[in-house]
Order: sequence, then C-alpha cells, then structure tokens
Amino acid sequence: MKIVRARVVPFALPLRAPLATAHGVLHERHGALLVLETDGGLLGLGEATPIAGFGLETRARAQEALATLGKQALGCDPHRLDPLLDAAEHSAPDAPCARAAFDSAIHDLVSQSESLPLASWLARHLGRVARTRIETNALLVGATPRELASAAERAVARGFRSLKIKIAGAAHAADPERVGAVRCAVGPAVRIRVDANGGFANSNLALRAIDALAPHDLEWIEQPVPASDIPALARVRSRSPIPIAADEAAVAGAGLARVLADRAADWVVLKPSALGGLRAAARAAAQARAAGCGIVVTTLLDGAIARAAALALAAALPGPLPACGLATGALLAADLAAAERHDAAALAPAPAPGLGVPLDSARLERVAEGRGRVLAHRDGQAA
Ligand SMILES: [Mg+2]
Repeated sequence: MKIVRARVVPFALPLRAPLATAHGVLHERHGALLVLETDGGLLGLGEATPIAGFGLETRARAQEALATLGKQALGCDPHRLDPLLDAAEHSAPDAPCARAAFDSAIHDLVSQSESLPLASWLARHLGRVARTRIETNALLVGATPRELASAAERAVARGFRSLKIKIAGAAHAADPERVGAVRCAVGPAVRIRVDANGGFANSNLALRAIDALAPHDLEWIEQPVPASDIPALARVRSRSPIPIAADEAAVAGAGLARVLADRAADWVVLKPSALGGLRAAARAAAQARAAGCGIVVTTLLDGAIARAAALALAAALPGPLPACGLATGALLAADLAAAERHDAAALAPAPAPGLGVPLDSARLERVAEGRGRVLAHRDGQAA
C-alpha cells in the first residue's frame, strides 16, 4: 500500500450560537481537512482545527504544515506508522493540530486496510478490547443564569448526567450565580464541572473564585490559571477544595511532564487534536495515569472527523473514564460529515473499518473555503 495523492481543503464551520470562554467569544471554527489516498483507492482523513488561546498553531501555519506532511507522505506505506509519525514530529514540531490531522489520516488508512474500526485497532495495540459505550458530558451554552439553567434541564432530559459550564469570561462576577442556577435546576445527583480556560490571572484570584463556587459541589475546575504558569496551578491545587484539571497546560510543549512532576492537577484533559494526534494522546494518557491522575478525553470543539478520532481514542484507552467532552458536534451549524447521535449522552465508536467517517463531498463543498490544494496526482508526481 502506497500513498499516491494528498489534498488539503480549508473549511469554516459556523457555530449554532456564540460560545463565550475566557479566551473570547467563538462564532465559527476554521480548519483544514487532509485527505490521503492510496494506490488501492483507500481514503484516509484527518482534520486540523486550531483554536485561539490554546498555545496551538495558527490556521495558516496548520495549512502550511499539512501541505508539508502531505507531500512527505507521498510514496510511503502507511503501515510504517511510527517512522511516519516520528518524521511528522520532526518536520512540524510547532504544529500539533496539523500533526494530529496527519496522524488521524494514517491511522484511518491502516485500520481500514486491516478491516478494523479505528477504536478496535487502537485498543488491540494497547492490549485490550475497545469499549462499546462512552458516557459524555453536555457543554451548556447560555449567557444568563436562567438560560444556563434551562440548557441544563434540557441536557438532563436528554440523558446527560454530567454538565460543563465555561466560566471566567467577561461576566465572571456572575459565575457563582450562573453555576448555582444550574445546580439548583438539576439537583445533587448530576455532576457539574467548570472550565476557566486560564481566565484567572493568578492563584489568589483563582482560589477566591473557587471558594465562591465550592458550595455548588463541582466535579472539577479546569485550567483556573494561565497555561504557562504551572507553579500557580500547583499552588491552586494544594489549597483548592475542588479537584483541579489541567487542559491548556498539558497541551503546550513539555507542559504535561511539568504538570505531573509538580503535582499540579488531579485530572488531565486529553485532546488528541491539540496533542499531535492519537499516538501522542495515548502516550500522554499512560503518563498521566502512571502519575496517579485521572484522564478525560475531549474534542477541541472540532468537526466530525477529529471528533471521531477522539471518540476512538476514548473507546480504546484502558482504565476508568469520567464522562468525556465528545458530544460537541451539536454546537456546529454545519459539519464535515453527517454525525448521527453526535450530541448524545453516550456515544458508540463507529462500527465501520477505519475512522468510520466517509468523505462527504457535498457537505465538504458547502463548508470549504476555496477549492483546496492537491499536493500530488495519482501518478505520484508532486504538484
Ligand atoms: Mg478546557
């Protein structure tokens, strides 16, 4: 099997409603799709959808890196997975989203060629059998306490038992009231986690906010302080009555190793899209577990292809998993593929070989920005 053609298609996916985080208000997600084609006609898909504020590459850099990685793969056998992914780390060390797309496309090809769903392929390589069901959390969207409480009621009616609320945004003074309204609406049995996205400037401000939120019985608070300040995260964790999750801090460079060495988190949030792909995320999961941390797998609020890769990883990983942040597809008003049940309280990995997400040209055309770039033709000549 040989990769004979690579294509990069930039896209824009509008959100159904603006999403406010400490990084600002999100209206749409921009990214690029990588399509690798083999001489036998298999298509391997990967998606790079960087997000501002996560210490990731820009979308322009992601596209440039995808072009480099796509060209690099021409003529290669995807079964040489480790050398290919090692080479990608070498040629695009600064572009984790592009590397994640490349990693996804290669994994998609290899698992298709072995007629295995990607989740089963990954699980087999971890010496286990894939889970068939992964519980997910609902990300609540709403500006006011009342809007959040109704979003929470709707989510619980749809079967969710774990809810997530973005905090530390422009209206952070109202966070205790917003979180309290949700707790009041859903009662004590539903888990609630909050995500500050690094929005509290230092550990004192974070601890003050945490004290105000603590009465609402939270599962964890994610990234209370900026990603670069791991000592501050460790200080917060040592004094916080609420468990601490590291997200952005575990993404940037050698961040995860420092988070674990400094005992700065109880939980580590694993986003394959931001960590450089499935292989890197599975390694990060093993490191975090070995250090005694819990792990949770989430999307980067990305399109259907990267979400399918994250779901396959969650299905394959050993050990207990809390509700994962994989039900984010419903936030998008347009997507890269049809994704039935993408916002359900429990998801099953696709049963078809590979990622299980076929290339949907009609949908892709609707969200594509331009015609995309073919990096090589069928005869293997670079374009
Ligand atoms: Mg987060």
